[in-house]
Amino acid sequence: MIKDPFIKKIDRGEGKELILFSKNELNYKFFKGLPPILDNQTHLRFHPTRSEWVGYSSTRQNRTFLPNSLDCPLCPMTNNKNPTDIPVDQYEVAIFTNRFSSLHLERSEFPSLEINTDRATGNCDVISYSSNHNDEFSKLPLERIELIIQALSFRTKELINNSKIKYILPFENKGKEIGVTLEHPHGQIYSFGHIPEIIKKQSIAQKINPLNKYLFDIPKELILKKNNTAISFVPRWARYPFEIWVVPYRKISHLFELSDEEQQDLAELILEASKKLDAIFNSPMPYTLAWQLSPKGYEKFHHLHICFQPIRRSKTKLKYLAGVEQIAGFFLVDLPPERSARILRGDEKPDE
Ligand SMILES: [Zn+2]
Repeated sequence: MIKDPFIKKIDRGEGKELILFSKNELNYKFFKGLPPILDNQTHLRFHPTRSEWVGYSSTRQNRTFLPNSLDCPLCPMTNNKNPTDIPVDQYEVAIFTNRFSSLHLERSEFPSLEINTDRATGNCDVISYSSNHNDEFSKLPLERIELIIQALSFRTKELINNSKIKYILPFENKGKEIGVTLEHPHGQIYSFGHIPEIIKKQSIAQKINPLNKYLFDIPKELILKKNNTAISFVPRWARYPFEIWVVPYRKISHLFELSDEEQQDLAELILEASKKLDAIFNSPMPYTLAWQLSPKGYEKFHHLHICFQPIRRSKTKLKYLAGVEQIAGFFLVDLPPERSARILRGDEKPDE
């Protein structure tokens, strides 16, 4: 049995929230913290040939860019001189509304143009994995990964119950190579008022190709680890070098449906996968991490899966999304998934 976390919710005004999660009860000391940004003009414009929405958010240009630990907005506070986004003296895991949010639940302005425009409905949260600026995901204790999953479960359940939200994407951009603007270990939670086209396509595809069709048949050469309730593997259809999927065997569509055992098993495999990725080149692997939850209305087909999408293919080379990937969405992969799996398991050396 996993113990329920201690949860403390703080209203930071202007619709901004801070939620603190801890395994043990903490006695927080509160400070004032960074003020909200009020003039965040964001809206959606319709792309006529791709038939999808494009988001515009001009205040994002002024986001904090790679600050040192003294100016880091995710570090806890010790005095009122250096305000941060998490204005407490200590914490384990924190989720808060992004001050530079590109999506808003309350604001409704959008320009009137000759093309179709709309309000950018939704919400953007940040999840800080640790109060320690120099921590790394793959070096966190298993207990902390469990707490991160519990925090994501709690928050995504709360968000999906909001009638304005249609789809939630918890994700992480890791590494400067990916374009991270803060080094403090953290992820994000984007909640959309619409279902992005690619996500819709992914969910519809699962009607025809349910993940369960593959899950119990994954060949040994692609499996990284499995336990009672979940499996981690390099998919035969990987689009990125060293791509890893972590999937619970039971078809569920949201994190909050995980049983205690499934939650622990998933945490174990996720931590193990991140360790394997960092071990390949003996340095933190840059990747995007996607928590693939079901959009509203597709729960019947969607099978929860967690995907690591790394971009380092050799010690000196990165996988860039170039012409064919960006224009046609057609991925060309240099590293066969079968070889990725051998390297990840330590049976073969990666390229220099
Ligand atoms: Zn920090």
